[in-house]
Amino acid sequence: MKKTTNQALVIFGASGDLTYRKLIPAVFDLYMNDSLPEGYAVLGVARSLFTDHQFRKKMREGISLFAHYKDAPADKMDDFLSRLFYLSIDTGKGEEYVHVKEKLDALNKKLDLGQNYIFYLSTPPSLYCTISKYLYGQGLTLQQRGFRRIIIEKPFGHDLASAIELNKQLLIFFQEDQIYRIDHYLGKETVQNLMVTRFANGIYEPLWNRNYIQHVEITAAESMGVEDRGGYYDHSGALRDMIQNHLLQVASLVAMEPPNKITAEEIRYEKLKVFRSLRPFSKEDLRENVIRGQYTDATVRGKQYNGYRDEKNVDPASRTETYVAMKVYIDNWRWQGVPFYIRTGKRLPTNVTEVVIHFNPSPMKLFKPADGSTIPDNQLIIRIQPDEGILLKTGMKVPGNGYEVKPVNMDFHYSELNDDYIPSAYERLILDCMNGDNMLYMSNEAVEATWKFVQPILDYWENDKDAPLHGYPSGTWGPDVADNLIEGEENTWRYPCKNLAEDGVYCEL
Ligand code: NDP
Repeated sequence: MKKTTNQALVIFGASGDLTYRKLIPAVFDLYMNDSLPEGYAVLGVARSLFTDHQFRKKMREGISLFAHYKDAPADKMDDFLSRLFYLSIDTGKGEEYVHVKEKLDALNKKLDLGQNYIFYLSTPPSLYCTISKYLYGQGLTLQQRGFRRIIIEKPFGHDLASAIELNKQLLIFFQEDQIYRIDHYLGKETVQNLMVTRFANGIYEPLWNRNYIQHVEITAAESMGVEDRGGYYDHSGALRDMIQNHLLQVASLVAMEPPNKITAEEIRYEKLKVFRSLRPFSKEDLRENVIRGQYTDATVRGKQYNGYRDEKNVDPASRTETYVAMKVYIDNWRWQGVPFYIRTGKRLPTNVTEVVIHFNPSPMKLFKPADGSTIPDNQLIIRIQPDEGILLKTGMKVPGNGYEVKPVNMDFHYSELNDDYIPSAYERLILDCMNGDNMLYMSNEAVEATWKFVQPILDYWENDKDAPLHGYPSGTWGPDVADNLIEGEENTWRYPCKNLAEDGVYCEL
């Protein structure tokens, strides 16, 4: 990995869960991979009272639980921790930001940070504008001496209007190229591999269009329920939490045109074209092509699971969706008429995120399996997590007399690349920001385009009392009606298992 210029990472919300579980472990892995510059500091800022020593102690614990290099030698750990500092201020009060400036000035003198600062807002979204404004008030967003960048965590807005307003506010205090809107899905190695698979190989791209692809499936399944995030989730739901950001981003990587160059500008432009080509939902589509569900209680393999409405901090009459499946069309030359089926849900049978490309069937069924069934169509499965890899399902002759055919798998698993270190999504994204590369971050236009696409669904669910919400028992693949979305009598969703090469309705929970 590339070494970067001297700089500091200032984390607002440093006493929180994300800093502890993801951010500091990721920065530590960067340190271990020798990707941090000589002059480097992390300044944690929040209201909670910590001394530097207490903050370092807590971060040591987070690193030892969540970092890739959790077993690093003590001298390495101590050296890294000596670069962590903490400042307690009331982040809601403008007058306290002078302390941020003073602290950064002092660290700058001590550690030669080049006055280059990244501000990472790992706080509740209600503080994104407030913190930006007060940083601006101290002149900390101006790039006269060093660079100044800001990373904004998800969720970026609660709906289209709030996303537009947030963009508008941020652009008062920062220039667009200083703003890094994070979607950690884009930092995943296998999500980036979607683009490499398509554009580094001559064999896929000629087939990658409406002439050869019948439909595309994108699934993000979670076996967990809302756990202790009920309070947050009940105001969000699966559409906002997963589809508006992560899964539409994945869809754009599947559907985009080849960029002219691998640069942030070109790739973001091609992805934006996809978002702008998403066919808006008509009233009929909203009723028929968008399914929402909510998990109910069930006993799975002897274990009792609560229904969503009985979860902690969830309204007992909640109509928040924990499952969404939808049929989406991309109105452009390449994808005209090809349905993209997108689904996500909690308390499904397994944890899996994958893309399935279903190719058109052969024009004549010359060969048949012995039991008279039909051979499944060719499928290319790109597994994002877990058991990351690629699988091609194809028909082969069963050895022996006659021409009996059987579907077989040709698969590649990332785990076979034993020698290669796979950085975590946060490690990759923080390093990109350190290098000023925003390719894997979302532009303001992309965020607004994706909100614009999902807004009619939010409005329909909120305003139409007859909009159905289907219950599904925990541990199943969601409401039965979601099966009706898929066109074609013989087509169904793929029911993936933990292992890439296996599928079936019954999987491990
Ligand atoms: P927390 O709820 O743990 O909040 C982070 C910090 O913000 C807290 O430690 C708290 O510090 C400060 N804070 C909370 N409420 C207020 C308030 N009303 N006024 C001022 N400060 C406040 O959040 P997480 O760390 O879990 O997440 C941070 C951000 O990242 C959120 O926007 C979240 O949506 C996003 N995110 C989190 C993920 C995760 O896995 N945790 C995953 C993806 C995104 P203090 O009280 O000390 O000031």
